[in-house]
Amino acid sequence: MSLLRCTGVTKRFGGVTALAEVDLEVNEGEIVGLVGPNGSGKTTLLSTIAGSLPVSAGTIEFAGRDITRSTPHHRAHAGISRTFQVPRPLPSFSVEENVATGCMFGRDSMGRTAALAKARTVLELVGLGEHAGSEVGKLTLHERKFLEIARAIALDPQLILLDEVLGGLNPSEAALGMELIASLRTRGMSVIYIEHNVRAVSTLADRMYVLNQGRNLAHGLPADVLDDPRVVEAYLGG
Ligand code: ADP
Repeated sequence: MSLLRCTGVTKRFGGVTALAEVDLEVNEGEIVGLVGPNGSGKTTLLSTIAGSLPVSAGTIEFAGRDITRSTPHHRAHAGISRTFQVPRPLPSFSVEENVATGCMFGRDSMGRTAALAKARTVLELVGLGEHAGSEVGKLTLHERKFLEIARAIALDPQLILLDEVLGGLNPSEAALGMELIASLRTRGMSVIYIEHNVRAVSTLADRMYVLNQGRNLAHGLPADVLDDPRVVEAYLGG
């Protein structure tokens, strides 16, 4: 069943058209890979889905409701959470406080004690259990990236939007990250997954969408998309 449906999403920044009539659909329990050359509109599309950027035209439906004009806060409550390409932890808080803060203001708006308990559970899940009490400033890049995922998971989203969470990681860290992303699907979440590494996306994704210059270029099963001459051309030409 369709969980998210973007129809004709267009986003203009002054004279720049970052997205032109983009369609994208995510079904329940599906990992959808979103790829395309630099500047093709991937992050802008995530921001229109999360609600941090208003669309210039088009509609976004989530769980059967039109959320095109909903605030980011409302969308988070409805079950959409995202990570940022550059992690944005709260620097003066510990690792577990960073996750707990999300729970306290999240869908269930739990109290501090329950939020900290939840944070510890989620940190175990992403492999950061032993860092719960650490300062975020002491974390490595890979740990900060996983903390960013933990903060998103702690909101119990139905749909999680991952923006380049494996960027800059070494192969063994990236392998852990891929396992973690696959486990989100097992836990019943749907995922939109942007990554520079198209091969990594194709390994994990049930379906892929390719954007080029703000437009849909191709979508379908990863193997078919990677074989599509238009996709090869966009990457080699780009
Ligand atoms: P990608 O994530 O695929 O690299 P982006 O979504 O970041 O692409 O960017 C798509 C296009 O929109 C680019 O041409 C970029 O310069 C432009 N763009 C993105 N954000 C802004 C902004 N805040 N103001 C002006 N132009 C922007």
